[in-house]
Amino acid sequence: MSKRIVIAGGGVIGLCTAYYAAERGHRVTVIDRAAESDLGCSYGNAGMITPSHFVPLAAPGAIRLALKWMWNPESPFYMRPRLDRRLIEWAWKFQRAATAEHVSGSAPLLLQLNLASRGCFEQLASEWGNPFDLTPKGILMICNTEEGLEHEMATAMMGRALGLPVETLDATQLAAMEPELSMRAVGGIYFPKDAYLTPERFMSALIKRLRERGVDLRWNTAVTGWHAGAGRIDAVMTADGALDADEFVICGGAWSAGIARQLKLRLPMQAGKGYSLTLPRPRKQPAHAMILSEARVAVTPMGSALRFGGTMEITGEITGTDLSINPARVRGIIKGVSKYLPEFTVDDFQGVKPWAGLRPCSPDGLPYIGRFQSFDNLSVAAGHAMMGFSLGPITGKLMSELLSGADLSIPMSQLSPDRYA
Ligand SMILES: Cc1cc2nc3c(=O)[nH]c(=O)nc-3n(C[C@H](O)[C@H](O)[C@H](O)COP(=O)(O)OP(=O)(O)OC[C@H]3O[C@@H](n4cnc5c(N)ncnc54)[C@H](O)[C@@H]3O)c2cc1C
Repeated sequence: MSKRIVIAGGGVIGLCTAYYAAERGHRVTVIDRAAESDLGCSYGNAGMITPSHFVPLAAPGAIRLALKWMWNPESPFYMRPRLDRRLIEWAWKFQRAATAEHVSGSAPLLLQLNLASRGCFEQLASEWGNPFDLTPKGILMICNTEEGLEHEMATAMMGRALGLPVETLDATQLAAMEPELSMRAVGGIYFPKDAYLTPERFMSALIKRLRERGVDLRWNTAVTGWHAGAGRIDAVMTADGALDADEFVICGGAWSAGIARQLKLRLPMQAGKGYSLTLPRPRKQPAHAMILSEARVAVTPMGSALRFGGTMEITGEITGTDLSINPARVRGIIKGVSKYLPEFTVDDFQGVKPWAGLRPCSPDGLPYIGRFQSFDNLSVAAGHAMMGFSLGPITGKLMSELLSGADLSIPMSQLSPDRYA
C-alpha cells in the first residue's frame, strides 16, 4: 500500500530513505531547515565506504585516549569539560558502553551493514552511470609507530575472524602500493572491501533522482513541533504550516535529539565536529584513499582533487548550527598529514578554506534506526557518527522495508531508538 511519508532532514540518511521509499511506491516529502546550497555534514566529508569500520566509537581504550588528547589543542579529539547535564549524561553512557563485550556484540552487525551498503553503492553506480566516482579499490590504513601498527593489526585480526578480507603490510609492501608517494610509515593494513567516492556528487545525483521520481523536497523548512494524539502522530509543524502523513521519519543528524525531545522522546546525541580541507590540484595524487592512523586523518582522492578530513570535537547537543572553525584543530590535521606524507607541507594548504561538519554521535557508537514504541507511525534514522555516509544506502533501504511493513533484510533490534528510553 502506498503511504504518505514525511522525512525530517535531507542529509544522506534522509535522502537515501526517501529514495528507497519512493522506489517502493510511497509518496515522499523531505523537509530540511537548511537551504539546498547549505553543504552540511553529508557533503564535505571524506567519502569513505568503510566495511573496515566495524568497531563502534565506544570501545575499550577510547576514554583513556580521549583524556590524553583533550589537553592538546592540535590533537584529533577534543571535548570541552563543562557542567552540561546532557554532555555529562552522554559521557557517562559512552563510558558504560566502551567495553569489549559491546565491541564484540556490535562488530558483526556494523560489518554486515557496511558490506550491504557498499553493495547498494555499487548497484546505484551501475544504474546511474557512476556520476559520483565510486572507486571500489580498498583503502590503506597507514601507521607511523609500532604501537599504532600493533593496535591496527589487532583490529585487522578481528576483521579477519569476522570474514573480512584484510592484508597486513610492512613498510616495503606499503611503499609498493603507493610508488609515486613518499611515506613515513612502519607498516599498514589494506582493506580491499573498502571504497571511496565524492560525497557532493553522490548527493546531487541522489537529489536529481528524487526529483525525477516526484519526491517533494522542501528546503528552508524546519520542524517546529508536532500534532500528536494517543500513540500516533497526526502532523509535523513547520513555519509554513502543518504537514499530515501516514508515516514520519526523523533523519535530523546531530539535531535529531532536539527534534525527538519536542515529543518528550529521549535520543542522547552529541555533535562531533570535524573538518576537511580539499586541495584542487594536489602536488601528488595517491593511488588509494588512506587513513593516517595515529593522526586520525582520512585522505581521499576525489577526481583530480585530494581531500583531508579529521578531528572530532564533541561540541554539545546541537540546537543552532555551530560550524565555527577552530584553527588549532585545522593545524593539527595539516601537521598530521606532513608526519606521514612529507611531500605535503603547510604551504600546500595556504588559502584552502576549511569545511566543518557535525557528526551525529550516539553514546554507544551505534545509530538509532527503527520505530519508537510510543508512536505507531514515528521512526528515526540518525546517529551514524563517522560512518553515516558509508551506511547511508543500507539505512535508507532498511527504513523503506520498515515503512512498508516488509521483512527486514538485516535484523536491527540492537539499533532500537528506545534503548535509552
Ligand atoms: C570531517 C568528516 C569526515 C567524515 N568522513 C566520513 C567518511 O569518510 N565516511 C562516512 O561514512 N562518514 C563520514 N563522516 C560522517 C558523515 O558525514 C555523517 O555521519 C553523515 O553525513 C550524517 O548524515 P545525516 O543525514 O545523519 O546528517 P546530516 O547530513 O547532518 O543531515 C541532517 C539534516 O537535518 C536537517 N535538520 C536539522 N534540524 C532540522 C529540523 N528541525 N527540521 C528539518 N531539518 C532539520 C539539517 O539541516 C541537515 O541537513 C565524516 C564526517 C566529518 C565531519
